[in-house]
Amino acid sequence: MKRPLIVGNWKSNKTSAEVLSWMKDAGEEKVFINQFPGQIVICPPYPYIDLFSSEVKKQNLRIAVGAQDVSPFELGAFTGEVAAEQVKEYASFVIIGHTERRKYFLESDELLLKKAAHAKQVGLSVIYCINDEDTHIPDGVDVFSYEPTWAIGSGKPDTPEHAALVINNLKKLHPTLLSLYGGSVTKDNVLSYLSQKCIDGVLLGGASLEFESFFSLLQALT
Ligand code: PEP
Repeated sequence: MKRPLIVGNWKSNKTSAEVLSWMKDAGEEKVFINQFPGQIVICPPYPYIDLFSSEVKKQNLRIAVGAQDVSPFELGAFTGEVAAEQVKEYASFVIIGHTERRKYFLESDELLLKKAAHAKQVGLSVIYCINDEDTHIPDGVDVFSYEPTWAIGSGKPDTPEHAALVINNLKKLHPTLLSLYGGSVTKDNVLSYLSQKCIDGVLLGGASLEFESFFSLLQALT
């Protein structure tokens, strides 16, 4: 079995109390988490990144921290933005180009290219989301995540075979990048994606929110 990359994206969910409750549950499964044969990354909302990463350190958990977005600008007068340099103080990964950013905030490939460049410059590992084979993947990306829009949060995932076909084609163009599949992955179907040779991991929305469902998904892989 490969050592998969498992990325949980909490989106705009959770209060600080809920973050702490997730962390408490995670702490109770510390041995399992720290021995999990793969890399776990959790991307909390911005206000809780510090809380989350402090808890990870305090409990000595083998979980990496990611942000869900980053500014296309440097430090400076850009109200509401969080610069890559600031993200880097708390996180080692960043998701760029999630379908919800493209859809609700009209983020263009041109803008996303700037985000990826800034993130890379400060040494963040960039997880770049694409909806299909034709989406441009810019320089500076470490991991691409194939996530068809219709599969996200719909309970209707792409088939493992089709996801593998798309990812395989993308890997021919980007042979050094790791690949994820995202879109309605659950404990019941996660293995079918990770058994595809070209898929290195999964990006989870819903299945990462409750610790119990996240944990049972990890258990399905061991
Ligand atoms: C996502 O938001 O990237 C995602 C894959 O969500 P879900 O797992 O809920 O479909």
